[in-house]
Amino acid sequence: METTVAEKTVPGLNTLPGDDVRQIMWRFADRYELQMLVQAARGVARGPVARLVAGGGRNAHEWTPQKAGLLQHFDESGITAAFLDPKQGGFIAGPKNLVLALIAFELSWVDAGAATCSLAGNLGLAPIHERGTPEQKVKYVGGAAPVKPGESRKQIRAAFALTEPIPFVGVETGMLAGKVRVAEWKDGGEPLLQVDKRGRFITNMGFANIVSAAVESDDERIKGSCMIILEETDPGKFDRGTPTKKLVHQLSSTNDPVFSLKVPASRIIGGYTVKDGIIIPNFSHGEIIETVFRRTRVTVGLMTAAKLLSAVEPVILYDRRRFRGGEGVPGTPRYELGLQQKEDVLHRLVDIWATGEASASLGFAAARLFDELDPLEKQKDQWLAEKKLTGRAAFKELTKKQADALKLLNLNLLPVGAREPNDAEALQKDPLVQFVILDSLANVLCPACKLWNTGHGATMMREAVSLMGGYGVTEDCPGFLGQKWMDAQLEATYEGPEAVQRLQLSITMTNELFLAQFQQWILEMRRIAAERPGTGSCTLASAMQLWLWTLHHVQNATDADGTKLYHKTRQGVTFPLADALCWLLAARQFVLDVIELDTKGAANPALADGLAGTVAFFTDLCHVQTARAAGEAGRVCAEIVHGYNRHPAWDETSCHACYCAEELETLEGLIPGIDGSARAYADVSEEGGSHPLKAGPCVRFDGLETFVRLRAKLDGCLTGCRLAKDRAAVALTKVMTREALDYPA
Ligand SMILES: Cc1cc2nc3c(=O)[nH]c(=O)nc-3n(C[C@H](O)[C@H](O)[C@H](O)COP(=O)(O)OP(=O)(O)OC[C@H]3O[C@@H](n4cnc5c(N)ncnc54)[C@H](O)[C@@H]3O)c2cc1C
Repeated sequence: METTVAEKTVPGLNTLPGDDVRQIMWRFADRYELQMLVQAARGVARGPVARLVAGGGRNAHEWTPQKAGLLQHFDESGITAAFLDPKQGGFIAGPKNLVLALIAFELSWVDAGAATCSLAGNLGLAPIHERGTPEQKVKYVGGAAPVKPGESRKQIRAAFALTEPIPFVGVETGMLAGKVRVAEWKDGGEPLLQVDKRGRFITNMGFANIVSAAVESDDERIKGSCMIILEETDPGKFDRGTPTKKLVHQLSSTNDPVFSLKVPASRIIGGYTVKDGIIIPNFSHGEIIETVFRRTRVTVGLMTAAKLLSAVEPVILYDRRRFRGGEGVPGTPRYELGLQQKEDVLHRLVDIWATGEASASLGFAAARLFDELDPLEKQKDQWLAEKKLTGRAAFKELTKKQADALKLLNLNLLPVGAREPNDAEALQKDPLVQFVILDSLANVLCPACKLWNTGHGATMMREAVSLMGGYGVTEDCPGFLGQKWMDAQLEATYEGPEAVQRLQLSITMTNELFLAQFQQWILEMRRIAAERPGTGSCTLASAMQLWLWTLHHVQNATDADGTKLYHKTRQGVTFPLADALCWLLAARQFVLDVIELDTKGAANPALADGLAGTVAFFTDLCHVQTARAAGEAGRVCAEIVHGYNRHPAWDETSCHACYCAEELETLEGLIPGIDGSARAYADVSEEGGSHPLKAGPCVRFDGLETFVRLRAKLDGCLTGCRLAKDRAAVALTKVMTREALDYPA
């Protein structure tokens, strides 16, 4: 068995991980253009953005000239153009998911409102970028390129308007109040449309000059719904509305706008056809939103990941200096370590760091996956278009590809000799088979990273805030941790709150293609566990197995009243299982990224000194995270598997079988009803059955023996996880930091 760097000796963590480490872990070591962009975005984040926050720029709801000044920095640094293709004025060819993820990460390291301000422009353009007609793309996406010297055009700044005043669109995107009607339609001419739309919480509305708005037909001459482009100079009302009194992301502009405008039908995003005198948009608003959000939600997930990782250094600096002064003398533990003398302080920071790593790993993996998927999706669209397949017919063809993909995955599980060599090869080469495989993963990874990174991330940001004591809840907190805590809650809310992601996962995580890959991942983790036990992959594999068993079980089981357990109305079952899956996915990706660092890091001479220590530390963090993920998954699964069985009547004797013999000794005499007969019951059941409690009246394990076994195995697999945490905690006391953060407080 190969010995890994982590297992030879246990060197320490010298410094906090730098760019060389991140480039390998997040797989952009060979992409120089991305490395340059990261530096540029960092310069903006830790320069003008940080100065604005430190100067109190977040204390106004209005879109101030100082906030507006950031737009220029975004333009000059390449952040704005990074979204665009070279022919539109951009400088990076190909898919941009990883590019935008890295920008979001860098800006959110300091302030996610600034990140949102930049990304909301892309969100406003995304419907056009994804589904727009060629003319729309040239005019609006191309028009968003920063104005060059000598050009006289006005740069396009976009907003995305879906959400409407209550009681209309929010989580439920179908409840549109925004309407579109035919205002004028001359014979043979282009129809002129009347658009009425009110928005709620629309980002960039303080300055956007175009809006991609979701509207529904209010006219029998228009079919269904669409997204439509509104310009600030269109005839009618383009009222930006009042600024939202946000407690979060104050460096972005958010308003409740009102639009009542006349626009040509050519503004319908993606175009339209006319059939029997009816305008039929080529894409409904739902279809466009789906394509857009599945990409942009990944970047939101990375905003919260950046916050958690950005908290590590300020917390260490604070802790170490906490007891300097007074009688403290340099060289004494009290002076040098300060609060880091306390185990709890260290353990909590280990948890924050591990969460940050796992969420960044998951988010960047999702971004890379979309980069891989984008060209395949285009090929799929082209293939369907050539075959003139739409709607149900297209769905049917893709279902066939799904069957082929499943066959391929199963073939790959067979030993090489046991399969026909050409079978797998032919399937492997089919881009549509590749598409459906990756699509099934993207449909899980995107909601998973939006849900877990932001939701659990917000909870962990509170931990970071608490470690800064009173400072944590002040504007002066180094690293702006208090603001970041609150900001994380917005990231969990906008672009679809957690419920939306859980709803999506409850469907996509049952796709047999995803589950076939998940099954392979369990084997992968078992293999890794044999080679690198320190990562806790064994625990993770056991938890993944338990989760999969539970999913299959609830898909077929009923509750005590005979009602189906896995059903879209049963969010008490589907949602926690979705949450549990996210924990597992994030931990798995973290393990994979650490292995990548270990295996590729040696090739980078800049890492020669610190690599072993960093890998050893990260391996311990992996163990901490896999154990925590396994614990969560185990808890959720156990509650669901057992929790829908009814306890027999709570009479005086029925529950006594739950007590073990030792407890009865203690309780006898204290609780009426605990007597010899109860003891006899417990004794018999403990000696008799295959499981001590099986014979008890209140515990029903019939048919659940496998679950009980898997769960017990999982607990056993936790061996060593706390030792790993202790080691990681010690590393935090020794790691070198800067004297001060590289951005102001
Ligand atoms: C600062 C900010 C900026 C924003 N920017 C934009 C923007 O640029 N463009 C835009 O269009 N929108 C924007 N939004 C709106 C944002 O996307 C919505 O607020 C969000 O999608 C939630 O909608 P809602 O507030 O109406 O919540 P609701 O729909 O009222 O939901 C509230 C809660 O109810 C529960 N819930 C609702 N439905 C379900 C369900 N089916 N199952 C289970 N639970 C459910 C969930 O817990 C949910 O969080 C922004 C919001 C904010 C605060």
